[in-house]
Amino acid sequence: MKTYNIAVIEGDGIGPEITAAGMQVLEAVGQKYGFGFTFNKVLAGGRAIDELGYPLPEETVHACLESDSVLLGAVGGPKWDSLPGHLRPEKALLGVRKALELYANLRPARLLPELKAACPLRADIADKGFDMVIVRELTGGMYFGESGRRFGSGGEEAFDTECYSVMEIERIGVIAFELARSRRKNLISIDKANVLESSRLWREVMHRLAERYPDVQYSDMLVDNAAMQLIKNPAQFDVVVTSNMFGDILSDEASQITGSIGLLPSASLGETKRGLYEPIHGSAPDIAGQNKANPIATVLSCAMMLRLSLGQPEAAQDIEDAVSRVLAKGMRTADIAAPGEKALSCTEMTQAILAELA
Ligand code: NAD
Repeated sequence: MKTYNIAVIEGDGIGPEITAAGMQVLEAVGQKYGFGFTFNKVLAGGRAIDELGYPLPEETVHACLESDSVLLGAVGGPKWDSLPGHLRPEKALLGVRKALELYANLRPARLLPELKAACPLRADIADKGFDMVIVRELTGGMYFGESGRRFGSGGEEAFDTECYSVMEIERIGVIAFELARSRRKNLISIDKANVLESSRLWREVMHRLAERYPDVQYSDMLVDNAAMQLIKNPAQFDVVVTSNMFGDILSDEASQITGSIGLLPSASLGETKRGLYEPIHGSAPDIAGQNKANPIATVLSCAMMLRLSLGQPEAAQDIEDAVSRVLAKGMRTADIAAPGEKALSCTEMTQAILAELA
């Protein structure tokens, strides 16, 4: 029997609760389709700081590199907020992404028909629904560029640098064009080419790639307009590709209009099949340990892992269908329940998904 080796970083806050749900669902779907899993739990983030004094142990990086894919809960929390930058839990995230060379972050944002009531947009906009994937460049741009402090004529200054190479733009562009080709064949690249030189290069490279994908309808959009269009007419977006910082901001905006960040999965990919899969939300310290977390974002991240890294698209679809049926039956965790509506716990929602899968 084929057995996949998954490195699991449970992380902090609700991390252990939601990764437990993910592992249960993977095991169940594996039994159904005839494959198995070995879950190798490894430390990173706040728990690693507590136990070892630093956020990302070498063994964790090694286990991730040896794995078929990585499942991550979330790291961080107020307990570690006052630590210096290099010792903060978030360093573990950047370290794993860097070690695995994960330069593409895929974040689907879909308004499920069952959850229209949870969408904060006007009813006529929500009624149209939307189903998009934001492809965010993950290892370049301002978050990795030169930064620092210095003294200038106005006193102390601080600077961060946005820098992209043709190679970096091209490889994220290829991922986005290929994805668009497998979906509704529409790609919008978001930049700030009216102001930034790095965006002008971004646009040039995307235009060159567009010639190689004549079947994909390609267009550019300025980031300020994109922020507006996401609220005004989200149905127009199919695949969106953008830089690290613009993607960080726009994907959070897109997540909010789906109803709850407790629903949204993500995948981070590089040149190999191995990916890192995690919900887009954080460690939710306010509800940690209370069995209240919505496990759906993590469960759907596991479905993405099956489809994009493990070559099990049927099993992935099965999980996604099970989640849709559970929601269609009106089952809700607290974050998506209407006022007065009964809310399931994290374990109850997981059991409901497992029952649908069975
Ligand atoms: P958050 O996403 O953890 O929480 C924001 C709000 O959403 C909270 O009210 C929380 O209860 C709710 N929420 C989040 N996930 C939920 C779920 N599955 N079910 C129900 N409700 C959910 O964001 P935050 O509070 O800004 O950050 C908390 C910590 O998480 C911080 O330390 C932050 O740095 C970290 N963080 C980690 C990651 C990651 O590991 N990838 C991502 C974002 C934030």
